[in-house]
Amino acid sequence: MAINVLLNGAKGRMGQAIAAAAPLLGITISAAIDAGDDLATHLDTCDVVIDFSSHRATRNLLELAVARHKAVVIGTTGHSAEEKTKLLELAANVPCVWAGNFSVGVNLLFALTRRAASVLGADYDAEVIEMHHRFKKDAPSGTAARLLEIILEERKLTSSALRHGREGIVGERTSTEVGIHALRGGDVVGDHTVMFAALGERIELTHRASDRGIFASGALRAAQWVVGQTPGVYDMQDVLGLK
Ligand code: NAD
Repeated sequence: MAINVLLNGAKGRMGQAIAAAAPLLGITISAAIDAGDDLATHLDTCDVVIDFSSHRATRNLLELAVARHKAVVIGTTGHSAEEKTKLLELAANVPCVWAGNFSVGVNLLFALTRRAASVLGADYDAEVIEMHHRFKKDAPSGTAARLLEIILEERKLTSSALRHGREGIVGERTSTEVGIHALRGGDVVGDHTVMFAALGERIELTHRASDRGIFASGALRAAQWVVGQTPGVYDMQDVLGLK
């Protein structure tokens, strides 16, 4: 489908990857803006806004999109849980795809993690490890946060079960904790491992991204899909028909 995209965060790594991938999919970037530009003046000429900028930009962007009835694709991460809950309420007033990761492989990893957490049960200690490039500002990654949510949902635990790294005399591991460890360095595009460790065996599910083009083409595919949808918040599983 031929669509016009307003790209927010255009000067960033993801913004540049999206601008490069758009013509290959027949998608027009009607405006490419970044910090300091006025988003409102570019909204009328677009069908959908794609945002890969900063978590601080999301509220203003959603308020404008809702007022002008524009579809949105949010890829930005780093929102606190409380902040995200409020933003999702706002986003539900327009067609919105919100995903912490737009890659097809990672969305399969989400499905496999849910299945593993359900089959393996509490005797298998669940830990999530993620690694990203040295420039990443938020931790854990949005993808790791989603993997953790899935494990917590399957194990009927709350976010108080999360252990963000360990230091000092923390005592033996309990069966109700879920560990999360964020590594940073170099130019790593994005690695995620979900580990289920029991006495006698260990299962590891790993996804490694080597090119951020996979997120860019996924976000553009989401943009094509979301234009014309009924208002509401969707994720990549909806876009890919994995539900
Ligand atoms: P980056 O730092 O390279 O780029 C961010 C860009 O946003 C910069 O050009 C910056 O100037 C701009 N920006 C900052 N504040 C802004 C504002 N208020 N309005 C408009 N632009 C603003 O970061 P990146 O690696 O491109 O990642 C951007 C975001 O996307 C991060 O939150 C990252 O975690 C997320 N991300 C998501 C996925 C996914 O699949 N969902 C994949 C990769 C990155």
